[in-house]
Amino acid sequence: MLKELIDKFYLDREKAKEREQTRFYITDAGRCSRAIFFKFKKAPREEIEARVLRMFDHGDYIHRLILNTLFSLGLVRSSEINIPPQQVISGRADAILTWENELYVLDIKSMNSFLFKNLLQPKEENLDQLQLYLHFFNIQKGILLYVNKDTQELKEFIVIYDRARSEKLLKGLQELRGKIDNNTIPARLLDFPSNKECQFCQFREICGQALAGEMSWSEFKKKLSSQKPLL
Ligand code: SF4
Repeated sequence: MLKELIDKFYLDREKAKEREQTRFYITDAGRCSRAIFFKFKKAPREEIEARVLRMFDHGDYIHRLILNTLFSLGLVRSSEINIPPQQVISGRADAILTWENELYVLDIKSMNSFLFKNLLQPKEENLDQLQLYLHFFNIQKGILLYVNKDTQELKEFIVIYDRARSEKLLKGLQELRGKIDNNTIPARLLDFPSNKECQFCQFREICGQALAGEMSWSEFKKKLSSQKPLL
């Protein structure tokens, strides 16, 4: 009884959040271009399970606990802060901290024990996101703080702003914007479907039906609509 009600609550809330995407999110940085394209085009996707949505909520809760501690330590200059408004991308950093008269952008990530134990370096996609925060806030240093959500252990990595990396990421997003506007589906990841991103991708099914290389979105929609209800 409660399980069904709680699951429905999460699924309904997720559906209500679905809206047209007009700008990139910082969390898109470093991700598969094709998956982002499909997200912009609201392509048919696998529904996220209520269980997974609850895990996201749990992650947010852990972030708040960490932030509470940092507030108590007097380190937080501002929290949940949006990057300055501009055309390309939007995003919200967990916090900006002050430590020994220097500013740091903080990005908190939570993960399970298995991933945490094997984490020796920051994940590339997390570095990409943090680099963009540093770029838009014009801050030279950041911290990636990883939390083991099973044991509450912590690992942290100091990250220095890398202008070349940020500019490359932004250039990649601009190129992708062109493809979105021109209705050109980007190529698949070269190691589809074994890439880790593919394994958790909501678009895996339709991705497998498209060509491996770039293709026209209009053509692909025709193909899909001949198999399924219209997009
Ligand atoms: S299945 Fe893989 S290649 Fe296809 S859209 Fe998803 S992440 Fe990209």
